[in-house]
Amino acid sequence: MSEAAGIATYINEQVIFDCLRERARPEPARIRAILDKAKAMQGLSFNETTALVAVDDPELMSELFAAARSIKQEIYGSRLVLFAPLYISNLCANECTYCAYRASNRELHRRVLSQEEIAAETRVIIEQGHKRILVVAGESYPDHNSLKYVHSAVETVYATRSGNGEIRRVNVNVAPLSVSDFRDLKATGIGTYQCFQETYHRETYARVHLQGRKRDFDWRATVMDRAMEAGIDDVGIGALLGIYDWRFELLAMLQHAQHLEQRFGCGPHTISVPRLEPASGTDFTATTPYTVSDPDFLKLTAILRLAVPYTGLIMSTRESSAIRHQSFQLGISQTSAGSRTDPGGYARSQGDFHSSQFAVGDIRPVDEVVREIAEMGFTPSFCTACYRTGRTGSDFMDIAKPGAIKYHCEPNALATFTEYLEDYASPATRQAGELHILHQVATMDDKQRRIATPMIDAVRKGKRDVFV
Ligand code: SAM
Ligand code: SF4
Repeated sequence: MSEAAGIATYINEQVIFDCLRERARPEPARIRAILDKAKAMQGLSFNETTALVAVDDPELMSELFAAARSIKQEIYGSRLVLFAPLYISNLCANECTYCAYRASNRELHRRVLSQEEIAAETRVIIEQGHKRILVVAGESYPDHNSLKYVHSAVETVYATRSGNGEIRRVNVNVAPLSVSDFRDLKATGIGTYQCFQETYHRETYARVHLQGRKRDFDWRATVMDRAMEAGIDDVGIGALLGIYDWRFELLAMLQHAQHLEQRFGCGPHTISVPRLEPASGTDFTATTPYTVSDPDFLKLTAILRLAVPYTGLIMSTRESSAIRHQSFQLGISQTSAGSRTDPGGYARSQGDFHSSQFAVGDIRPVDEVVREIAEMGFTPSFCTACYRTGRTGSDFMDIAKPGAIKYHCEPNALATFTEYLEDYASPATRQAGELHILHQVATMDDKQRRIATPMIDAVRKGKRDVFV
């Protein structure tokens, strides 16, 4: 039996446990050889990655972090892609013990946004300067559970305009679908389809998912097989960190990525590393024995960067400023900003914990987040060019792997950041942003500069949506 038959045979728990159990401390020489291989940006094997998980010597750890930083810099430069999640409905028939949307949660105010409300939310997000939205919903749709609701939401977001602004890429995080439902979803023009396994550990999965379709581990663990069979090139996997041992989840995510690469010739476009947050009506976050500490979170991020260098890594802005700074350097390439996790939350001035999926620690306006990112030395990027020019799936990887992506991504990031500064930034952010752009242009190579400079100038003169 196999993924095509709906069983996730790619997850080999025994192999993972054996590797973790045999974690005799690897020789420093072996670790250094693995780090050298990683620096060649060819990715790492399962066994090599396992050896890195076992590293705890402070000197080797700092070499591991240095290797991750150099790969991040080489492939992604200073760019950090920003997006906003848009929660359209918190109706849900499932019973995930860690999530406020679970069916039995009587404390939750249930809300299903109408298409007008989705347009209103989208306008607020556009006016914050975003160009990318991630549409998120619980697993239960109004109107006889019809997916048409999600399709209409995607179409509404794409059709909404405000001033110069529009949303140029809509990604979607909804429950697993059949191949034919994925074909219909793809037809709405989505970018990435994202779905997190939560935990790849079957027994734990059964313990925390008590009711509804989501109880079926294999239906979820084979979701990306069906999405890719349906022709969705960019898929995003992830594990919710804190449900089970992060080491297990890391190695299982690698098995998942390798499986997709073997079967479809292209691994996941992104891996998300969300950490559990407090949610209304559940003490799961406070009582889990698997809370991921800050040092472990950074180690996981760095190891992923070494193991799958060309896969985007996504983190939410709710992490503390210090963690954000370090993880952006180590490997995170995308992050959310100004997020609300309560449907209708963008149009309200205050977040509503009782209709939120979880508490959002960082509720600063996007402008402040953007300024902080630029002051940290990163380029906030609103670029959506790859998917609009067809650079998705294996085509993206073919360009990314030889490193040519920097002649696309770096100029595109600066052009879209300039667009943000011209149209949305406060005076303080504009000043910090212009300084950052000056510095970036001065330090780029000649070829990049020849491409980037006219693009930035064109945006300053009023042209919009400039990309290569
Ligand atoms: N309902 C769909 C599903 O479960 O796949 C899609 C939307 S669900 C709202 C999106 C993600 O939110 C889940 O995959 C889960 O990882 C995350 N999530 C749920 N509860 C959370 C919590 N307490 N803290 C952080 N993330 C959480
Ligand atoms: Fe529903 Fe998704 Fe929350 Fe589970 S994680 S309760 S499926 S919204």
